[in-house]
Amino acid sequence: MAVILDGKLTSQKVREEIKKEVDLIKEGVRRPGLAVIIVGDDPASHVYVRNKKKGCEEVGFVSREYALPENTSEEELISLVKTLNSDEEIDGILVQLPLPRHLDDKKVIEAIDPSKDVDAFSYHNVGRITVGDYDFLPCTPAGVMELLSNYNIDVAGKNAVVIGRSNIVGKPQALLLLQANATVTVAHSRTQNLKEVTRQADILVVAIGKAKFVTADMVKEGAVVIDVGMDRDENGKLCGDVDFESVKEKASYITPVPGGVGPMTITELLKNTLTAYKRHINEK
Ligand code: NAP
Repeated sequence: MAVILDGKLTSQKVREEIKKEVDLIKEGVRRPGLAVIIVGDDPASHVYVRNKKKGCEEVGFVSREYALPENTSEEELISLVKTLNSDEEIDGILVQLPLPRHLDDKKVIEAIDPSKDVDAFSYHNVGRITVGDYDFLPCTPAGVMELLSNYNIDVAGKNAVVIGRSNIVGKPQALLLLQANATVTVAHSRTQNLKEVTRQADILVVAIGKAKFVTADMVKEGAVVIDVGMDRDENGKLCGDVDFESVKEKASYITPVPGGVGPMTITELLKNTLTAYKRHINEK
């Protein structure tokens, strides 16, 4: 039976370290500030934003939320981003995705000052990550790496398979594993003989968005299995991309859903905001 990689506990540990740093900020000096912009009424997005706000409060950051109506124009949204770019109280700007269809995600993200792009989604930051010279890492893949490191799981020299190649999870995850010296394979919907590929994995990261897709027969005995998925099962209950009950009997380590990668993502956002804050304070 696998050891559970506890994202809540690991998150708590990292958040305590962040809070300690914030507590050391002298009286009269401003705290790190994060602005979160949400457009429209998507209930899941509102839950994420609430959790981000809660995370900020927990570590002593200033958090501002801008909830804009569904019919906000691109000009209005970009104008708010630009105002926040020059707001000296704000270190990080996060635009909650997905945006309503009439808004161009890329254009909006590109409007964020790269030094405040704490999601690390802008071309500038993606480029810097690619060459291994960065201030921020994208939150979910960075959270996965932090979780592995917290449990002393060394990835160097291991076969790592990432299922999924999205720009926000799969691709950067593969890059971070590569930078940590794993031998990396990226699988996707066009991969042939997926089971043969995944059975080679010492470390299997799954980010596809299909409930309980990865079953025990797809996993090598003793593998480390990281489930990024956030799906709903047939009863509407939150679950991951991995069939936890069967895979936990075969894996050496496994993340649960909820309580695995999810909490780590917000923690990495807080880390990035602290990094941005330190840069901004030192540049003054
Ligand atoms: P996405 O943009 O929809 O990408 C899904 C990827 O999975 C694509 O690359 C797709 O391949 C691949 N895929 C789909 N079906 C497949 C199959 N049958 N076999 C192999 N590959 C398949 O999704 P995402 O944004 O990366 O998110 C993935 C999951 O992670 C979702 O459940 C999402 O909710 C969750 N998520 C969680 C967090 C967190 O904090 N825990 C953060 C972000 C996302 P193609 O490229 O060939 O289409």
